[in-house]
Amino acid sequence: MGISGAKVLSAVGKVRGGVHVLHQKNTADQEIVRLPAPNKVVIPMQMHIGAPCAPIVNVGDTVSVGQCIGDTTAFVSAPIHASISGTVTAVGETTLANGAVTRAVTIESDGEMRLFEGIEPPKIDTREEFLAAVRASGLVGLGGAGFPTHVKLAFKPGTVDTLVVNAAECEPFITVDNRECIENSWDVLSGIQIVKEILQIPRVVIAVERNKPKAIEVLSSIARQVEKEKGEIAVMQLRSIYPQGAEKIMIYSATGRRVPAGKLPSDVGCLVMNVASVAMLARYVKSGKPLVSRSLTVDGSAICVPQNVRVPIGMSVGEIIDHCGGFKSTPYKIITGGPMMGFSIINTDIPVLKQNNAILAFSKQDSLKKETDCINCGRCAAACPMHLQANRIARIVKTGDVEELIRAGTNVCMECGSCAFSCPAGRPLVQNMRLAKSMIREAAKANG
Ligand code: SF4
Ligand code: SF4
Repeated sequence: MGISGAKVLSAVGKVRGGVHVLHQKNTADQEIVRLPAPNKVVIPMQMHIGAPCAPIVNVGDTVSVGQCIGDTTAFVSAPIHASISGTVTAVGETTLANGAVTRAVTIESDGEMRLFEGIEPPKIDTREEFLAAVRASGLVGLGGAGFPTHVKLAFKPGTVDTLVVNAAECEPFITVDNRECIENSWDVLSGIQIVKEILQIPRVVIAVERNKPKAIEVLSSIARQVEKEKGEIAVMQLRSIYPQGAEKIMIYSATGRRVPAGKLPSDVGCLVMNVASVAMLARYVKSGKPLVSRSLTVDGSAICVPQNVRVPIGMSVGEIIDHCGGFKSTPYKIITGGPMMGFSIINTDIPVLKQNNAILAFSKQDSLKKETDCINCGRCAAACPMHLQANRIARIVKTGDVEELIRAGTNVCMECGSCAFSCPAGRPLVQNMRLAKSMIREAAKANG
């Protein structure tokens, strides 16, 4: 592998289930290209798990890059910032890839990309100041989850002994985390040191799937230099199996600890952060510039020029695809996110969100299997890393028996798609799991 003398650990826990997907990391060697700023962005007020923000600007206002344009007093949320400079031309609504409708601020560019003049590195001397700064950065989990980072970091002091930096990137096609490790490795290490020191976490594991030898080489080399002065930081190579990057699976692989149903990673002494989130945090602490752009992979058989790009938040999916040469064949399926957990979209006039890490477009020959009856082969159960029987849960959904859905463990489903991927009958198992979970939520609401 060419890792001269660097310390690279092997996984501690062996993942049960999961599936071997074709990696298709076609853009792994392509540097991230910054696209020209668009003429217009539409910035949704809900780009995270938790409470939506409310717009704090009005039509006609002049805004600049990094200026806060949406906020809320709710704890589980993250403020939203202008990603281009210009004039607010609308404060209305937009529809997201998952079908949700949210409020949104439209900004027409002045072509200047002027930085907000109030931007300066945050003053951080205490844990509280650090958490306030993380909130002000607008950072959410950039690996796709969109969970507000300041909430994740607000664990009880002394309860976390291991920071697991998630660089698994186990979904096919997506390579931006791999590029982050290679192109911005010192930001990654700097972000790790900041989190480790301020939150007093003694041990750090950077977990990478072993199909990314270049990232492992770069990270292990600099981790070794940092470790000499700053305590334990190790790189761990993991088996390339999907969904290796799912939070609970990652914790088990990296530490051998299992997060019980309904519990948090901090309950077993762990904090998991995506590698791009850690790097962004380092840049924010240095510059004070909040989260206003992100990197994503544009790929798939229908895309003319697959590549990794960096774009302002709120730029339209269609415009990004145009910059990648447009479609080379009629797209049969367009997805924001990975092919396993992403959302299919029918309209490309939707904005890129903070947590979007890919835009994929496929022609018809790469489309899904035809749906037929279940043949009771059991492959969906064998593939499930959470020990669920997706075929059985699909049958319970039809009966409407919510108690039985709960007993079957429905709520621990992480919607990873391994069951559907394995199903020879093309059953819509993930949609069924989502439906089952929503039935449980609705029943809980109805019962107060
Ligand atoms: S049941 Fe849920 S957790 Fe299990 S494989 Fe299917 S989507 Fe993944
Ligand atoms: S994998 Fe598909 S066909 Fe096989 S048991 Fe599960 S749902 Fe049925």
